Amino acid sequence: MDSYIVKPGKKIDITDYDPDDESQFSQGKQAGLERLSELTQKLDKLQEILYAEHKHKILVVLQARDAGGKDGTIRAVLSGINPQGVNIVSFKVPTAIELDHDYLWRIHQHLPAKGEMVVFNRSHYEDVLVVRVHNLITMDECKRRYTQIKQFEQMQAEEGTTILKLFLNVSKDEQKKRFQERLDIPEKNWKFNPGDLSERDLWPDYSKAYEDAINETSTSFSPWYIIPANHNWYRNLCVAEILVNTLESLDMHYPVPTTDLSQVVIK
Ligand code: ADP
Repeated sequence: MDSYIVKPGKKIDITDYDPDDESQFSQGKQAGLERLSELTQKLDKLQEILYAEHKHKILVVLQARDAGGKDGTIRAVLSGINPQGVNIVSFKVPTAIELDHDYLWRIHQHLPAKGEMVVFNRSHYEDVLVVRVHNLITMDECKRRYTQIKQFEQMQAEEGTTILKLFLNVSKDEQKKRFQERLDIPEKNWKFNPGDLSERDLWPDYSKAYEDAINETSTSFSPWYIIPANHNWYRNLCVAEILVNTLESLDMHYPVPTTDLSQVVIK
């Protein structure tokens, strides 16, 4: 999955990333689904050790354009995990109380504690994406925020949080297809939001905002991955592989019992 990581300091052009790419898994969709099933079982085991060891903290940041597949990714990749084992936090338009605080205030409250895994469905990055695209902050403020976000994430990493940031990259054509399905399929009508169409008109502005945010904030301690997301099976597979690889690299272990269990007699 290394080909999808944005190396710190490297300036990427987001249009170089192909949303249709399937190059890292050559055996096709059916084999991909089988591999995903293996990975979700591994994730369940890894999450249990994460909790038992009570040492590491895991934060996964999911960002995407509208209909980019955040919800589907969460459902498919985390479906095998103990429901008590992962906390999903969705960040919507800030409330009046949230707006009265700094933009990281609402984020900080939901960060993982030791032994916890948290997935952010949208995140503090909205404050340099939608907020920038709609000119709610100046470009100077936005640049200051990149620095603040990097420092914030560095602090979390130094305090023991492993951070992964995933941008699910869909094409404009694929977004159109997904919006059309929301109009055509009765069970999907509820997902259609006319406001998404005006955001779609701002596609190039969002591309630039994503590109800058990723370039400015992909670091060794909190890297961005750009995941090809036109094909759901491939997107899910990539996300699951990245999560499993990251958790395995932490070399986690069940805690060693503090008493000699061989001496324990249950009467
Ligand atoms: P989702 O699209 O994530 O499934 P919604 O349809 O409820 O969920 O959309 C959430 C909306 O909240 C998005 O339009 C997003 O841009 C917006 N939002 C999230 N964070 C902020 C923020 N900090 N400032 C302004 N808007 C935000």
